[in-house]
Amino acid sequence: MRDKALKVIERLEELYPNARLELEYDNAFQLLIEAILAAQESDKKVNELRRELFNKYKTPEDVVKAPLDQLEKDISSINFYRRKAKLIKKCCQALVEEFGGEIPKSVEEMVKLPGVGRKTANMVIGGAFGLPAIIVDRHVLRVAQRIGFTDKKDPDKVEQDLMEIVPKESWTKFSFLLLNHGKNICLARNPKCEECPICDLCDSCKTKL
Ligand code: SF4
Repeated sequence: MRDKALKVIERLEELYPNARLELEYDNAFQLLIEAILAAQESDKKVNELRRELFNKYKTPEDVVKAPLDQLEKDISSINFYRRKAKLIKKCCQALVEEFGGEIPKSVEEMVKLPGVGRKTANMVIGGAFGLPAIIVDRHVLRVAQRIGFTDKKDPDKVEQDLMEIVPKESWTKFSFLLLNHGKNICLARNPKCEECPICDLCDSCKTKL
């Protein structure tokens, strides 16, 4: 399985030499807030909002100081903005009170923050801090299942399976590659197996002889 993972990485790296998150961000604080905003919302929509939002809210303290109705107004173009505004306020409050306004650098600490699950925590750890992180979003989960890296459905269990198969130094890159592959070729409804460079390694390839 480890061999297969290495081959998948090698081939997908050729296809996506600049694989990364679609969310744009300048620091861990921004990526954390954006990850909360991006739940049941497109990354594109979050990217459209980010410049104006972070001109106003540069730190967790800025969010804590702002009235809730103002924050709601500032993110009102986003799905479920009222619920998300409350979560962002609580998350920033906890960041200020428990972590001195700094974003913690471990998944275990980060998941203590309101609104932050393992997916978001790993996204920040891998995306903003450049540390090893397996990010299991819906694309990574689907592609990993199809290839045959896991038979689990629960994202936390899929994360565990992938952590065992993929060398730690490649966790983040591997996540970005599967994420990009899931968005471009291994689509949810109609995977384009005929264009896929890892068909011979994939348990679900439709065109495999
Ligand atoms: S072969 Fe098909 S199912 Fe397998 S990873 Fe490629 S696109 Fe997805």
